[in-house]
Amino acid sequence: MSGVRIGIDFDNTIICYDKVFAAVALQRGLVPEGWEGLKTDLRDHLRSSAGGELAWQGLQGFVYGKGIGGAEIYPGVREFLVACKRAGSKVCIVSHKTRFGHQDPDRTDLRDAARGWLRGAGLIDAADAALAVDDVYFEHTLAAKVERLASLKLDVFIDDLVDVFEQPHFPKTTRSILFTRSEPPHPEHCKPIATWADIRREVFAA
Ligand SMILES: [Mg+2]
Repeated sequence: MSGVRIGIDFDNTIICYDKVFAAVALQRGLVPEGWEGLKTDLRDHLRSSAGGELAWQGLQGFVYGKGIGGAEIYPGVREFLVACKRAGSKVCIVSHKTRFGHQDPDRTDLRDAARGWLRGAGLIDAADAALAVDDVYFEHTLAAKVERLASLKLDVFIDDLVDVFEQPHFPKTTRSILFTRSEPPHPEHCKPIATWADIRREVFAA
C-alpha cells in the first residue's frame, strides 16, 4: 500500500511513560521501594488513598513536562516509521494535550516538552525522519482532536484510547487501530493490536 495517510496518537502510543512514572513516584515517596507496575497501576494505587488524586495530577504534570526525558519510545515505532517512509505514506501525530498540567507549579509547556522529546528521539526534524514538526498537532479537547484527524482525511488512525474511536464524529472511512495489551472485549469497529511490529504488518501487509 502506498500513499496511505496515517495518523498516530502520542501519549502512551508512541511514548511510554511507565518507567518514569514509577521512578518519580518512588522519589516522591508515593510508593514503597521495589514497587513495580504500569502507569495505570500507579494511578489506581494513588487514587485509593486520601489526597491521591492531587498527587497523581502533580506526578502527571511533572512526567509530561520536565520529566519527559525519562520516557521511552515503544519498541517497533521506529521500524514502523521507516516502513511508512519506504511506502511513501504521509504520517502525522494528532494528540489531545493541554498546554499546561493541572498541578505543575513550574507551568512547563507540555506541548513544547513533547516536541523536544520527539526531536531528541530523532522522530522529527532529522534528515531521515518520517515526520516534520508541522505534522504534529496538539489539540485542547478530545472533540478537537477528532475534528483535526477528520480534516486530515486519514486512512488509518492508531491510538491507545478507545474513547477517540467512540466519538460520534470519528470518520467512518478511517481504519481504527487500538494499541492495547488489554484483554477483550474491545469495541467491534476497532482492531486491537498489542505491538508495533504487528501494527506494521497490519498496515503494510502485502
Ligand atoms: Mg494516548
